[in-house]
Amino acid sequence: MKRVGAHVSASGGVENAPINAKNIGADAFALFVKNQRQWSAKPLGNDNIAKFKENLKTANIKSEHVLPHNSYLINLGHPELEKREKSLDAFMDEIERVNLLGLKLLNFHPGSHLKQISEEECLNNIAESINYALLNSSNIKLVIENTAGQGSNLGYKLEHLAYLIDKCVDKDRIGVCIDTCHFFAGGYDIRDKSAYKKTMAEFDKIVGYEYLSGMHLNDSKNELGVRKDRHESLGKGTIGLEAFECIMQDENIDEIPLILETIDDSIWDEEIKLLRNFIKGN
Ligand SMILES: [Zn+2]
Ligand SMILES: [Zn+2]
Repeated sequence: MKRVGAHVSASGGVENAPINAKNIGADAFALFVKNQRQWSAKPLGNDNIAKFKENLKTANIKSEHVLPHNSYLINLGHPELEKREKSLDAFMDEIERVNLLGLKLLNFHPGSHLKQISEEECLNNIAESINYALLNSSNIKLVIENTAGQGSNLGYKLEHLAYLIDKCVDKDRIGVCIDTCHFFAGGYDIRDKSAYKKTMAEFDKIVGYEYLSGMHLNDSKNELGVRKDRHESLGKGTIGLEAFECIMQDENIDEIPLILETIDDSIWDEEIKLLRNFIKGN
C-alpha cells in the first residue's frame, strides 16, 4: 500500500506531529525530532514520548511510516575532524531520540566537502561516520537522502549513494530516500512515463529498489540538471504531475513513507488526495 503524508510541524512538542499529520489525512509523515537549526536541544521528556506514542495511535499511523529528518547543521563528511565529530555527536543524539520515540528510520543528507577535500575523501568520511553510527546504536535504519548537489553537497549522483551503501558495515540498516526535486536537479528526468521508467531502471541497477526506504515528493522551480534546491507544489513546477502519477503506480514502491515537502502547506490535504487518486483502482 502507498503511504502518503507531509513533513509536518513539531512545534510545541514532537507529540503534535502525529495530530498535524492526521489533520491533513496522512498515513505517513516526516518531522524534526529537535530544532533543525540548533546544535543542542533539551532531551525529550518522558511526557513528550508517551504523548507522541499515544497520538500516533490516535492518528492510526504506524511507526514504520514515520520518516524523521535530521538537522541541517550536521555534516558527516566535514573535512575537519573536530567538526565532523561534533556532527556525529549531534547525529547520535538524533538516533537516540528516534529510538526513544519508538520509530525506525532516520533520514539524513550525506554531507559536503566545502571545497576543501575531494568528493571521494568526503564520501569516505561520510561512510566512516555512518559505520560509527551503526556500530554504536541499534534498531534504527539510516536513510541517505539524495541531494540537489547545490554548493558542495554530495549525494546528487546515484553512484554516491551506491558508494556509501557499498562501504556500509550493516546493509540491513541502511536505506535511501529519493527526493524528486533533488533528483531532477541532479539531472535525473522523471517527467513522463518513458523517462520515469528509464531513470528508475538506472536507479534499480546502481542502487536497487530494495534500499528505497522513503521518498520526498516535491515539484521543482528549476530546470533539469541545474543542481538547485527549490521545491514547488505538485503540478506547479518543472517536473509536472505525470511523474507523481508514475510513482503512485510504481509497484516496486510499497509501504514506504512518501512525504510532501512542497511549499504551500495549506494545500497538503489536497495534494495527498491528488496523489491517492493516481493509485490504480482508486
Ligand atoms: Zn532533506
Ligand atoms: Zn527532501
